[in-house]
Amino acid sequence: MKNVACLRCNRAMEHAGESKLQLGEMGWFSGHWPNLLAGALEVDIYVCPECGKIEFFQPQEDEDRIAKRECPKCGEKHDWDYPKCPFCNYDYYSK
Ligand SMILES: [Zn+2]
Ligand SMILES: [Zn+2]
Repeated sequence: MKNVACLRCNRAMEHAGESKLQLGEMGWFSGHWPNLLAGALEVDIYVCPECGKIEFFQPQEDEDRIAKRECPKCGEKHDWDYPKCPFCNYDYYSK
């Protein structure tokens, strides 16, 4: 389990369990997700008790297995589901 604070209210989020997502139903996931071919993605789910925001995380044991994307601007590595680099805000989709 992680200690996750809600970005909106800064409250500790509660672990709501792990679940498998069927990626076919997850249209908002970027097509660049490397596990796309696996068909299902295991996620850790955290819920904010204040505003109800739900956040998905990769289960921790998978973090080393999944390749990270290296930002061409600042060189930091981050997960593939960011449309922008979380470190320097480099936008992968604007040309
Ligand atoms: Zn919240
Ligand atoms: Zn960057």
